[in-house]
Amino acid sequence: MERFATNRFSVFILSPRPRYLEERPLDREEDFCGDNISTISRPWLWKHWFNICSESHEKCRALDHKSEKFLPDRLLEILTGDGGKSFNWKLVHSAGLHDIMYATLSHCWGASQHAKLERENYLFRMEPTSSFWLPKTFRDAFYIAFKLGFRFIWIDSLCIVQDDNDDWLTQASMMGSIYENASCNIAATWARDGDNGCFSTREMNESTTISLDFPPGETKDYQFDDCRRYHNELTKAPLNTRGWVIQERYLARRQLSFAQSQVYWECRELTASEQYPKGIPKDLIDDNPLLLPPGKPTLDYLDTIERRSGWIRLVNHYSLCKFSKISDKMIALAGLARQMSLMQDDTYLAGLWKKDLQDQLCWRTDDKAETDVLRIPSYLAPTWSWASIDGPVISDLSYHWKNLASRSLIKFWMYRSIRNTNSTYTVSLHPAW
Ligand SMILES: [Zn+2]
Repeated sequence: MERFATNRFSVFILSPRPRYLEERPLDREEDFCGDNISTISRPWLWKHWFNICSESHEKCRALDHKSEKFLPDRLLEILTGDGGKSFNWKLVHSAGLHDIMYATLSHCWGASQHAKLERENYLFRMEPTSSFWLPKTFRDAFYIAFKLGFRFIWIDSLCIVQDDNDDWLTQASMMGSIYENASCNIAATWARDGDNGCFSTREMNESTTISLDFPPGETKDYQFDDCRRYHNELTKAPLNTRGWVIQERYLARRQLSFAQSQVYWECRELTASEQYPKGIPKDLIDDNPLLLPPGKPTLDYLDTIERRSGWIRLVNHYSLCKFSKISDKMIALAGLARQMSLMQDDTYLAGLWKKDLQDQLCWRTDDKAETDVLRIPSYLAPTWSWASIDGPVISDLSYHWKNLASRSLIKFWMYRSIRNTNSTYTVSLHPAW
C-alpha cells in the first residue's frame, strides 16, 4: 500500500483492489437497486458474520462456552407473528430461562423522550405490547435482533427501573457483565438520539477504483481509500463519544455497528464492513490518533505489557467522552476495571493500577482540548487520579513507547543473533531502558 496524500482529517491510501471484490461472492443482485440505499439492506450479511463468528472463530466460541453462565435479571422478549414486519414485546424475568442467547443495544439517549420502565408501569410492561410507540432506534434494534435469530434483547431504559435508585445502582453495577455475556451487541452508532433509528441512507460509492499500468506492463485495479474511515465512522461517531458506551464496545463478544455509511462487524477474529465483508485491510484500521489497536478494542490481552498499555490508551480515550451525569464517570468504567482485576493480581485505585502506579500517575490535562477541562467539584476520585477531572487528559506516552521500544530492541537483537550464526542460542534479556 502506498500513502500519498494527507489532509488534516484523513490519510488516503492507494491499494490493489482485493480480488474477491471483483467476484462479489458476498453481494446479491438485490443490493444494488439504486444510487442511494439504506443500511437496512443486507440483513443476510449481518447473519453471515454472526454465523461464521459463532461457528468457526475459536476465540469467540471460547467466550460463548465459558463455564460461568450469566443472564441479566430482566430481558425484553421480542414477539412477531408476521415474519418481522411488526413486533410486540414484553418484559420478562430471566429466573425461569435457561440456555438462551440475548442481544444488547448500545444507543445514545439524546434529547428524545425515552420509553422507560418505572415502578408505576412495571406490571403493564410484562404484558405483550406493540412496539409501535417505542423510539425508532428500539424498533430497529428489534428488527436487527430478529434477523440475527434472537428472541431476547436487553435495553437499559426498559430493563432498569428508572425511578428506583436502588434498582439502578444494582443493575448499573452489573452493566459490564450484561454486555460481556451478550451474544451480540447492536450499536446505533451514527444516531444522536432514539428518534434517528439505527439505519441511515448512504451513497453507494464506497470507494474509487482506478486501473493503473503498475508494475509496468501489468494493468491492475487499485482503489483509493480513506484509511481513517473506520476510526472516523466508529470511534468518533456520536455513540462512541458517550462515556457509558466505551465499556459496552470493549466488553462485547461481537458487535454489529450501524454507522453513517455502512454496517461494521467487530469480534476477536474479524473486523469487517459492507465494503470489505471478508475483513478490512489492516492499513485501513490501524491509523488513529488514540493509538488504539486495529479492530475491536479490548483489554483481554494475555501479554501484561499489552494489557497495561491498553489501559493507558483506554484512559486517554475515555477522558474524551461525555456524561449526562458526571457522577457516573467511575461506575461506567467498573465493568472494565473488573475485567482487568480478573486477569491480573493487582489493586485498582480510583482509575489506576497499584503495580503500575508510578507510570500511571504521569497524566496531565490536555491543554489543546476544544472543551473546558475542569476539576470535578464534588468528590469522585482523589486529586491524583485522572478521574477527578472532567475533560480530556493525556497519559505519559513515553511510558507506552518505552515498553514498545524496549521490546522492539530485544526482538531485533535476537533476530541479528540468529541470522549471523545459524545456531540455536540461549538468549538472556536485559532491560533496554
Ligand atoms: Zn468472531
